[in-house]
Amino acid sequence: MINPRIAKREVTLHILKTFGIHTNKRLGQNFLIDEQVVDRIVGAAEVGAADTVLEIGPGIGTLTQALAETGARVVAVELDRRLVEVLAKTLAGYENVKVVHGDILKLNIREEVTAPSFKVVANLPYYITTPIVMGLLEQRLPVERLVTMVQKEVAERMVAPPGGKDYGALSVAVQYYTRPEVAFLVPSGAFLPPPAVESAVIRCMVRKEPPVTIRSEKTFFRVVKAAFAQRRKTLANALKAGGIPAQDLPEILAAAGIDGTRRGETLALAEFAAIADAWDDKKR
Ligand code: SAM
Repeated sequence: MINPRIAKREVTLHILKTFGIHTNKRLGQNFLIDEQVVDRIVGAAEVGAADTVLEIGPGIGTLTQALAETGARVVAVELDRRLVEVLAKTLAGYENVKVVHGDILKLNIREEVTAPSFKVVANLPYYITTPIVMGLLEQRLPVERLVTMVQKEVAERMVAPPGGKDYGALSVAVQYYTRPEVAFLVPSGAFLPPPAVESAVIRCMVRKEPPVTIRSEKTFFRVVKAAFAQRRKTLANALKAGGIPAQDLPEILAAAGIDGTRRGETLALAEFAAIADAWDDKKR
């Protein structure tokens, strides 16, 4: 690496001071200051010169720089205009980086990232982790893998198996679209300023085919949402509250082979799928 690395406390402080930047908590601005963590993220994503990477929230360019050094093509989307100005300086000379000023939740990603497939690598702004991850997956963008820093608690929910308190609609959705795993944990001291919560890097390999075949994804996610909306209710009551007509419910549950007195959080993906298909059959 020829350019000085940004992923150091002194360099980050210097950049912030030079540009008169005060980090904005509301935008989830916790910048990485640990080179090892940055390198491990790039390593977990296995980024190489042949890759195209979408980075969300480049901040002052800490992770972007390490991604760019691999030779990959990087598209980095930053919401904060002040930081876009900083990035023009900190990433000057990296011809393989395109910085886009915009809100990742509103941006037409396909217009900005035109590669046939790409990786998503990011230290995410925690206040919108779920909408970002779900948006990327639901849009069916040609993402190969997602390697992102998230709150440790969110990482635990993403990988949670059925039966525990961490298992919920997010677990089902992430596991439906990807094979997620916690790559490693990250202490708060790796950031400036340190976040109040613990962090983890999650690696999600996007599946080519879903793990269960279902007739309608819409019905599947409706069932999942209903089952977890009222966790203290039995599955039967939760599904009723979620829109399955009470008179059809016994037949739907019987066809799916599921006991309605169970709690939603005990159901595996295949069981949600069986209920969704039985409901669709009933609607025909
Ligand atoms: N990548 C940098 C790093 O690792 O040091 C900064 C990560 S910081 C946790 C999150 C970044 O996301 C901030 O730079 C913040 O301004 C940006 N951000 C927040 N909301 C955003 C949005 N809706 N779209 C794009 N970027 C956003």
